[in-house]
Amino acid sequence: MYKLGDIVFTKKNHVCGSNRWKIIRTGVDIKLECLECKRIIMIPSFELDKKVKPILSKKELIIKEEYNKSMGKE
Ligand SMILES: [Zn+2]
Repeated sequence: MYKLGDIVFTKKNHVCGSNRWKIIRTGVDIKLECLECKRIIMIPSFELDKKVKPILSKKELIIKEEYNKSMGKE
């Protein structure tokens, strides 16, 4: 699922050349703001699933880091 403020990377670049988007609305339709040209697009979430590269959210990165740390202590 997508959360407000998440940054996603699309496989295809936007017309401005950027592929980084910020999620500004979630739900059945997702609203994305291009981080480069600030244009806003709306896309059904199932369509977005196909277009974005899988990335870890900040929270998942932190969890992973904590996990690695705890494993290192063993
Ligand atoms: Zn753009």
